[in-house]
Amino acid sequence: MDKVESLANQIFEDYKDYGVDRKEIVEKLKKLLIEFRVPENEAIRTIRNYIIREYGAPATIRRERITKIEEIKEPNKWVTVKAKVIQLWESSSPSIAQVGLIGDETGYIRFLVWTKAKKQPVEEGKSYIFRNVVVDDYGGVLRLNVTKISEIEEIDEDVNVKQPEELSEDVEVVGALVAIQQNSGLIQRCSVEGCNRVVKMGKCPEHGKTRAKDDLRIKGVLDDGYRTYEVIINEDGVESLTGINLEKAKKIAEETLDRGAVLTELKKMLLGKYLRIVGTATPRYLIAKHVEFFKPDIRKEIERVKAILEEV
Ligand SMILES: [Zn+2]
Repeated sequence: MDKVESLANQIFEDYKDYGVDRKEIVEKLKKLLIEFRVPENEAIRTIRNYIIREYGAPATIRRERITKIEEIKEPNKWVTVKAKVIQLWESSSPSIAQVGLIGDETGYIRFLVWTKAKKQPVEEGKSYIFRNVVVDDYGGVLRLNVTKISEIEEIDEDVNVKQPEELSEDVEVVGALVAIQQNSGLIQRCSVEGCNRVVKMGKCPEHGKTRAKDDLRIKGVLDDGYRTYEVIINEDGVESLTGINLEKAKKIAEETLDRGAVLTELKKMLLGKYLRIVGTATPRYLIAKHVEFFKPDIRKEIERVKAILEEV
């Protein structure tokens, strides 16, 4: 690439979100550098000033790293994403101004705008840069939080979005439950409306000391022989597998004076067992909608092995 092209590309990269025409930059650069023999730095400054004036671009360009949605895999990270608002849902809490789904060409993620952030509402179908938003984990689903220090900028660009069918598709996995994590069993959640985060030692990571409510769940690892899945099984699933519901779990805790006794009991019944789980796959978790013990059909299995042996 010649000098003019590479300089033009640099300038274009900085200002392409402002509707700048790349060809125009090349033309102007050529004129300045070749025709008028203006020094390189001077030529670049002239063109930047021209763009700021003509296209209303800001005088200082932040070189920002835009994170692709598929790259968002864990909570507590601050990111900037360029995405289109796909759906807005009704917020069930006065502390949440907007809640919905945004997407880019790599995937989708839930987002919410906290009322305290005092942002201009976003609209379905429009594209934005969401700057300095923080990822959190809500019951196994990652979300982007727009807070006071976040910034939402509407852009003219129409962000391409991955096809929505892939979103609601359920997956079925059969595998062995090889681990049950410590924060399983009879757990406590923050009772602040819209929060629901897991409370540890009486503290919510967002709200500090809080009134907690009990919940029953399993966070575990399922191994299907190809890969492992982090799975979340909620109260209904736990009950259908073990007969233990929230009431029973509380009773076990009361009788033993030990909340951990529920986890011990669940481990006894479930660790190492084969489960069939149908659920929603999020970037991080498989959230079970339906779960049952898996009993392989022995006769079919023998037929299958025989067939393989005959082929050999
Ligand atoms: Zn909370």
